[in-house]
Amino acid sequence: MITPPFDYVAPQTVAEAVQLLRRHGDEAKVIAGGQSLIPMLRFRLLEPALLVDINRIEELAYFREEGGFLRLGALTRHSDVEFAPGLERRYPLLVATARVVADPLVRNRGTVAGSLAHADPAGDWGAALLAAGAQVVLTGPDGSRTLSVDDFLLDTFTTALGEDELLTEVRVPVPPERTGGAYLKLERKVGDFAIAAVGVQVTLNAAGECTRAGIGLCGVGSISLRARQAEEYLLGRTLTEDVLAEAASVAAEEADPVSDQRGPAEYKRDMVRVLTRRALQQAVERARAA
Ligand code: FAD
Repeated sequence: MITPPFDYVAPQTVAEAVQLLRRHGDEAKVIAGGQSLIPMLRFRLLEPALLVDINRIEELAYFREEGGFLRLGALTRHSDVEFAPGLERRYPLLVATARVVADPLVRNRGTVAGSLAHADPAGDWGAALLAAGAQVVLTGPDGSRTLSVDDFLLDTFTTALGEDELLTEVRVPVPPERTGGAYLKLERKVGDFAIAAVGVQVTLNAAGECTRAGIGLCGVGSISLRARQAEEYLLGRTLTEDVLAEAASVAAEEADPVSDQRGPAEYKRDMVRVLTRRALQQAVERARAA
């Protein structure tokens, strides 16, 4: 199917883009990698009069550690994270996530910010960034505001982004010492969306007790979910095999899957249990080695 007709503009600054969004309201749509937007246009799920292409905005093309955060400008592609030299040692959760998003073609064009803005409950970045305790920076005509990813993702394909706002940056706190992470995804075939996927990040103190735990669930709810009760269960405990298995069972209860072409709900819930236990094991090993 071909897309409906639209006007196209490619501003060179954030200020210009935001003014265009303000002027055109819900008639305009931002396009970044186009890997979700173009399919939606082709299926006529959206018919915007204007596409605002942000790919020429140089001030959004950065990806660096600064001020206690790893800062991903809105033009950071999945593949930038996948292949960043030296990133895996400090951010294993992020690199493991980037490796399993779709296929290399999509990863070379699609952006992390676009994935979050799209808010697909089957999108991998929502779960990973919840686990990492990440934030987003939204920029509109009156300036910028910062929200946690928890507060940004509201519902299926629904976020806190205003009509005249751009998601300009994703911020991931620099992990403290003795932090490890992992992202595990079960898919029907390579490149597919998840049957279920789990992102975790844990921090240990010198005595080996858990001081922070983040667990994000993908594809098993109407939105990317945070397994808060499982996170709370881990806090203050020494992370033995039994403790990890119990946390994984709690996380599985927090999942809210539906039966569909990717499998029955109870199967997906059980996969959350298995994936959470394995991801926690990997994360704890990495935290101990860090
Ligand atoms: P676009 O498609 O350009 O935009 C998506 C939405 O976000 C639009 O509504 C747009 O207006 C908005 N938007 C984009 N950037 C901004 C911004 N900076 N500020 C405000 N709004 C913005 N994803 C996964 O997570 N896992 C998968 O396994 C997976 N498999 C895929 C397989 C295929 C074949 C395809 C085509 C896509 C797949 N995706 C998957 C989706 C892919 O990751 C997309 O790249 C991503 O969802 C959207 O990023 P984008 O930059 O392409 O955004």
